[in-house]
Amino acid sequence: MEYPTLLPRFLKYIKINSRSDEHATRFPSTEREVDFQKVVMQDLVDLGLSDVHYNEKAGAVIAEIPATTTTTVPVIGFLAHCDTADFNSENIRPQITKNYDGQSKIQLGDSDFYLDPAVFPHLRDYQGQTIISASGDTLLGGDDKCGVSELVTLAEYLLAHHEIKHGRIRLAFTPDEEIGTGASHFDVPDFGAAFAFTVDGEKPGKLDWGTFSAAQFELSIQGVDVHPAVAKGQMVSALKIARDFQNSLPAQEVPEQTSGREGFFHLLHLSGIVDHAELEYIIRDFERDGLEARKQLVRDIVDQLNAALGTPRISLKIYDQYYNMADELKQHLEIVDLARAAYRDLGLEINEDPVRGGTDGSQLTYMGLPCPNLFAGEENMHGRYEYTVLESMYLAVDVLVRTVSRLAEAPIK
Ligand SMILES: [Zn+2]
Repeated sequence: MEYPTLLPRFLKYIKINSRSDEHATRFPSTEREVDFQKVVMQDLVDLGLSDVHYNEKAGAVIAEIPATTTTTVPVIGFLAHCDTADFNSENIRPQITKNYDGQSKIQLGDSDFYLDPAVFPHLRDYQGQTIISASGDTLLGGDDKCGVSELVTLAEYLLAHHEIKHGRIRLAFTPDEEIGTGASHFDVPDFGAAFAFTVDGEKPGKLDWGTFSAAQFELSIQGVDVHPAVAKGQMVSALKIARDFQNSLPAQEVPEQTSGREGFFHLLHLSGIVDHAELEYIIRDFERDGLEARKQLVRDIVDQLNAALGTPRISLKIYDQYYNMADELKQHLEIVDLARAAYRDLGLEINEDPVRGGTDGSQLTYMGLPCPNLFAGEENMHGRYEYTVLESMYLAVDVLVRTVSRLAEAPIK
């Protein structure tokens, strides 16, 4: 159904710059995120939600939609993140294309950039619908202001429709998802939900409950630099060692040559001179065993190279980032089933392709809050081609309403 306040609310939110900053040392990473959260918080107060507060530890706004039934229903939570990705987000000027014809290129503002169905074929799925894009020089911020505005709209709708029976619903508006640090601060006890969903996904029907398992490692290489004229037998080039390490990894297992359920090693950063070099990689695999095997391969290569050098010139720091939430959610399939049922009730075709990345739910699930990800209507995230579709956002709110209703009809344990 149509929710008349959803579009104005979304437009208001995306115009507020709330980009996070991965280089910041504070938490939340930027003050502008907090400024945006305060706006959301005031809207929640104005709508009359309960227990609206800012949790300092989590850097999150928490609120509750009180139950409308006296039967025992588990407390369900929904989360949306307030920060936007690492792309220009100053002076976002949304552009609305109503009744899109499904074939034309949409010029982004007066820029040289276009949303072109030849490049982005998914645009053709939205014939007759309302496309919301930015103007060529910024991202849109639909990731995740789609989710934020959908949750606030859900609250407004349920507070006006007491005839819809549901248990207690907890909402959280979180920081720093895009830089991967927000979820680790989350206050699961204060949130107080038995399980939750992030509302931060792509097109209608997408249901994410499988993600990569992830690790990161850093190599620091110490060489010996002497004048090339007298280098024989003395120079040890850190750059050559770096090259040898890189060449020892499986050449095909990189992001640009993998898809589906295939994992990879990805060199993120490389810098150095003959004297020293630093490298930074991420490792991704859908299987925990696979992740461990990849980590072991890295350790083995480092050991072999160090042994061949006769002295340990390579030091390795390796750490896990997050794990595939599916491993944990297999124990709680009733939560996934609840979302599936809500999607089906609305006639949506379900797409459960695993996410080749992580979500806040990947961490939260392992912090004791099982947390799959629902679609929010985001498309082409993280850049100037980002757009969303108003009708997708309406459907996302429908799914939320249907999910809480179903849970009250047939409470899961
Ligand atoms: Zn997101």
